[in-house]
Amino acid sequence: MKAHDGMYIGGQWRPAAGRERIEVRNPADEQILAEVPAGTAEDVDAAVRAARAALPGWAATAPAERAALIGALRDVLTARKKEIAETVTAELGSPLGFSEAVHVGSPIAVASSYAELAASYAFEERIGNSTVLLEPVGVVGAITPWNYPLHQVVAKVAPALAAGCTLVLKPAEDTPLTAQLFAEAVHEAGIPAGVFNLVTGTGPVAGQALAAHDGVDLVSFTGSTAVGRQIGATAGAAVKRVALELGGKSANVILPGADLPKAVAAGVGHVMNNSGQSCNALTRMLVHRDQYEEAVSLAAAAVAKYPTGDPREPGTRLGPVVNAKQHERVRGYIARGIEEGARLVAGGPDAPHAQGYFVAPTVFADVTPEMTIAQEEIFGPVLSILSYEDEEDALRIANGTVYGLGGAVWAADQETAAAFARRMDTGQVDINGGRFNVRAPFGGYKQSGVGRELGPHGLSEYLQTKSLQF
Ligand code: NAP
Ligand code: MG
Repeated sequence: MKAHDGMYIGGQWRPAAGRERIEVRNPADEQILAEVPAGTAEDVDAAVRAARAALPGWAATAPAERAALIGALRDVLTARKKEIAETVTAELGSPLGFSEAVHVGSPIAVASSYAELAASYAFEERIGNSTVLLEPVGVVGAITPWNYPLHQVVAKVAPALAAGCTLVLKPAEDTPLTAQLFAEAVHEAGIPAGVFNLVTGTGPVAGQALAAHDGVDLVSFTGSTAVGRQIGATAGAAVKRVALELGGKSANVILPGADLPKAVAAGVGHVMNNSGQSCNALTRMLVHRDQYEEAVSLAAAAVAKYPTGDPREPGTRLGPVVNAKQHERVRGYIARGIEEGARLVAGGPDAPHAQGYFVAPTVFADVTPEMTIAQEEIFGPVLSILSYEDEEDALRIANGTVYGLGGAVWAADQETAAAFARRMDTGQVDINGGRFNVRAPFGGYKQSGVGRELGPHGLSEYLQTKSLQF
């Protein structure tokens, strides 16, 4: 696959400072797709300097002009949709249809929303005798994961651009090719040199250097809670703004009276999509004990519709997980579930193919709230079904993890579901199958993070206020 042997800094592709390379692998066949340079602190420093140099000009650019350039970026992404989807499928392993619809479709919608918001947002407000100016925070260090390689990038870059910030992006080492395509799109859209910069590399080297750089005013990170905690500590010590979008262990609460077959099928689909590698995946299904066995059989039937296969084949709905490490880790969790006494209804720890990082779509019943598989983020196609006695019990189980990112409630009517959702300690709840909304704030309660992405709430993360008293 095509790859740039350099970093996108100051509006051009420049050779990397060091000689280290990252091999990008196709998780479906384990073959090497391409190599990209592994950035060092020197590359990060050059990129931050470029972003800082571009900041005054971009911050002073009229919001309408910034909006037009974000719109142009959206148009380039749209024109190159097929190529980007093929790249996501090659380096992440997501089925091609899902790559087109979600991995590319969603970031296009996000870019669109920020093209509109940049043009209409009130960057000034009046409070009594004060005028409050909403000014860009400055230079943003963005560190993104591999699970939604373009969406996670656009969810940071588009609001930062709308706000008038400049950026340096360090994408996940597993999915740098999508990030390089994004940098090409930024260039093609005519976004001024230095406003967006890309340094590919590993977390502990390039990511760490970016998070710790004095020239970065805000670190926006999406990934694991373990790394997020470190980044928060580094940013805190430097009195730098930080946004952390971390893991989840989201509950799908099916209340008595809900459409059980529909709720179970949608819940299974939510976990199998993207091979379970979504931070808000509804990995814990909570069912009333009177409907429990029926839900378990429905889930077993639903999961049979997700056989693993080549993600480039049109019929495939479940691709591999991203890399060898996740392959081991996810199957380790499945083995742990069996050891701890959960009942395996579908799937299991054995790899379904000799080649590729495939995990069998797995469903566990008789999962109790304290089990490891009910507490820790697995990040694979693994669903746990738990039973509850009554609503209070369901709420206690739903809220009983360190996380609070996503969630869902199904009930006979929206009012009953929404009343339950109000009592959940989580940042997002889908009511009776409510659709994802790219303008609604996305982010976590508890250890799922700090700050919000998307829509106007996401834009405000990149702004700081100045009050003028008259
Ligand atoms: P991760 O290490 O947290 O990766 C996220 C990003 O942070 C990547 O760009 C990574 O670079 C970078 N990074 C790693 N260590 C860093 C450091 N010390 N300083 C600065 N940046 C650093 O996540 P992972 O290892 O890919 O996945 C592990 C687990 O995290 C998964 O099993 C899953 O549970 C969770 N996860 C959650 C999300 C989410 O959206 N909430 C996304 C991905 C993973 P590299 O690519 O070089 O590691
Ligand atoms: Mg990592």
